[in-house]
Amino acid sequence: MTARNVVIIGSGPAGYTAALYAARANLEPLLIEGQQPGGQLMITTEVENFPGFPEGITGPELMQKFRDQATRFGTEIVTGWVTDVDFAGGSPFQVRTRDQEYEAAAVIVSTGATARLLGLPNEEPTDSGPGFMGHGLSACATCDGFFFRDKEVLVVGGGDSAMEEATFLTRFCSKVTIVHRRDTLRASKIMQERALSHEKVDFMWNSTLSGYLGTPGERLTGVRVKDTKTGEERDVETGGVFLAIGHFPNTKIFQGRLAMDDKGYLITKPGLTATEIDGVYACGDVQDSYYRQAITAAGSGCMAAIEAERWLESQEG
Ligand code: NAP
Repeated sequence: MTARNVVIIGSGPAGYTAALYAARANLEPLLIEGQQPGGQLMITTEVENFPGFPEGITGPELMQKFRDQATRFGTEIVTGWVTDVDFAGGSPFQVRTRDQEYEAAAVIVSTGATARLLGLPNEEPTDSGPGFMGHGLSACATCDGFFFRDKEVLVVGGGDSAMEEATFLTRFCSKVTIVHRRDTLRASKIMQERALSHEKVDFMWNSTLSGYLGTPGERLTGVRVKDTKTGEERDVETGGVFLAIGHFPNTKIFQGRLAMDDKGYLITKPGLTATEIDGVYACGDVQDSYYRQAITAAGSGCMAAIEAERWLESQEG
């Protein structure tokens, strides 16, 4: 068992910023980075709206800078998957990974959110058989776009992610069709316009996928598309499918341990990152279903570190 002042769980903009501030407050934080260090920005192409980078920067480059800045001031980073936490008895808290147990005077939760899938049969591999994911189906254009060179592909969704993924895929693919379940987009005006005006981007309105066609584990060759107004279904051939239908918070290990809303986002006190448990803080996308931006996540990471520092100080003596 290792005892720490502050343990930070998760390594996106929120976690690294919390680590930077906690390190500069001489709290010698430990940051546990999960299976996707750097969080969602690691699967993002150009980030054009993070202040301080007028020319834009790629998500992975930005996250490397965050990480370097956090370690420069003494943050210790370990790779691990947190399997359990014990907050019930108050501070010090227990945080367990598969092969370690940490004791922490304060804990900052910044586990972020994960890409949502459609939940159709054969989407992901299961115990009963292989899936299409990685075999023509993807939830990350940045990671996989390259493999779809000269193909005609579909992007599912009507938000900023779908517009961004579709526009990005035009670099490789001969045609990109955005499949959206309504006839109006949720995406911001600038992202909409980029996609709507792109000669390689087409739209399939009032449509949703109702099945994947092909051989799971080998190759996706098409999809069954359902008209959301008439209910009619038809089969469409495609070279690939990219899902961009939003995210869900990574809060499974906090069920029954921290208060959550009906979508699983952690609940913090109004205007603060403090949870209902003294000494436990939540920042970034794990507690924000509204803004969900790198800059707001970073800001809330800063808030969490400052709140933790002041609370730890108040506990001394
Ligand atoms: P989002 O805004 O929640 O949009 C999800 C889209 O997927 C919506 O159009 C939704 O349809 C559709 N959808 C959800 N479930 C579906 C289902 N089961 N079947 C079919 N369609 C489904 O998610 P997002 O696009 O990932 O964006 C999340 C946040 O990140 C937003 O705040 C966004 O502004 C931000 N973001 C910003 C940038 C940027 O500025 N560069 C890039 C990416 C994301 P409905 O519209 O009908 O609900």
